[in-house]
Amino acid sequence: MATIELFNTLGGKTEPLTPVGGPALRMYCCGPTVYDYGHIGNFRTFLHVDVLRRFVRQQGIPVNHVMNITDVDDKIIRNAAAAGVPIAQYTARYERAFFEDLDALNIEHPEHFSRATGCIPEMVTLIEKLAAKDIAYKTEDGSWYFRIARFPEYGKLSKKDFDGIEDGARVDVDEYEKDAARDFALWKAVKPGEQSWDTPLGTGRPGWHIECSAMATKLLGDDIDLHAGGEDLMFPHHENEIAQSESASGNPFVRHWMHVRFLLVEGRKMSKSEGNFYTLRDLLLKGYRASAIRFLLISVPYRNQMNFTFDSLTESTNAVDRLRTFHQRMLKDGFAEGLNADIAAATAKAEQDYTAALANDLNTAEARAAIFDLVRAANSAADAGSLRAENATQILRVLALFDGVFAVLEDRDAAITRAALAWAEVEGRIDEAAPELVATLSFSDADIDALVAERTQAKKTRNFARADAIRNDLLAKGILIEDSKDGVRWKRK
Ligand SMILES: [Zn+2]
Repeated sequence: MATIELFNTLGGKTEPLTPVGGPALRMYCCGPTVYDYGHIGNFRTFLHVDVLRRFVRQQGIPVNHVMNITDVDDKIIRNAAAAGVPIAQYTARYERAFFEDLDALNIEHPEHFSRATGCIPEMVTLIEKLAAKDIAYKTEDGSWYFRIARFPEYGKLSKKDFDGIEDGARVDVDEYEKDAARDFALWKAVKPGEQSWDTPLGTGRPGWHIECSAMATKLLGDDIDLHAGGEDLMFPHHENEIAQSESASGNPFVRHWMHVRFLLVEGRKMSKSEGNFYTLRDLLLKGYRASAIRFLLISVPYRNQMNFTFDSLTESTNAVDRLRTFHQRMLKDGFAEGLNADIAAATAKAEQDYTAALANDLNTAEARAAIFDLVRAANSAADAGSLRAENATQILRVLALFDGVFAVLEDRDAAITRAALAWAEVEGRIDEAAPELVATLSFSDADIDALVAERTQAKKTRNFARADAIRNDLLAKGILIEDSKDGVRWKRK
């Protein structure tokens, strides 16, 4: 088992990642705020956390992983009010979409999901604890704030120097500018038209930051091995989580902090106004495959800035195809008995390089390169007739190891795209889908099987015109027919 070295934002250096206080790694990842569909930047974070949890388990360490669902915050309150619906009704569809997107991207479910609205009593208790220490204080309007002057280590995660903090200066929004070291809201007094909870603190709703502190502590205790999130959450969100949790418990809150960097799209910051803002669903409707999106988003190591381009997505599609074809080739019988020693050595090296790369701060790019080196070497040997049955067995074992983390070999792509099209239909967004995609998927597997059978029959009766017409018709809809000595096969492009 390799020791996993992971960069720790708190210490500012790479450190071994080990569970303390039990066999399982207790990890918390800030989940989605369910007010909209997730974009590819969000999923880059969740995918790299998926890579981490899969690799940690592969190395023999169980994980106890919690992800929160933020189903009450400023944006949700605002959007639900604008739509004139209760927040639970507003968030339900985006929560459902989030789970569908996780599954489409083959992201494993954490051991626990926790909705913020399900943990209000724990948030109240935490604020009461802070109030008893005079660290939380109530303002005239009935809101509660965290007094950051009482937490001298404020800024230790984001490495910001907050000298000259003005005691009592407050900020009441959940997301605010980087230089605003202000007392932040723990509990927000009810405003007209807003949903609220009656609690011993008064009538109101929680601030965003207290939600994560309360949920993490409730499910994992007040001494957590790893906390992850996107780099945008480092300040103020994670800094505030630390201040709240450590002030309440008196213990270090989290040992290891992991932050996943932002991505650029075609070299620019992704934003709606730039027209380069993509949700997972946008890409599926354009005809890109879920497996290729997963593979691309995890192939650039999590601490590197990634430049997402459509060229790289096409390249990723080809890479996944190459892996799947190689996998099929290794599965097929027909290699002569025995072992090719050179390929056996290349296989062992690939396995070693793969493990070493991921153990080195999750270097997914090197892990991927190690496996493609093996694909190249084994394909040439197979072409030359020198690959042996025992090599194929060994290679399949290493491929399974690789796929335990990268998870792209199983082909569920067409089903996922069909589900995306069905969703677009319901949402009145089908006109955003690529026309050839709609044409391809309007044929069910059974329809295609029937046409392929008809073509085979036509060829038998020497009706080649009909056989060609069927082939061309299917091709126009993106369905390829391959005649081989084992019979006729088809696949969607
Ligand atoms: Zn959080």
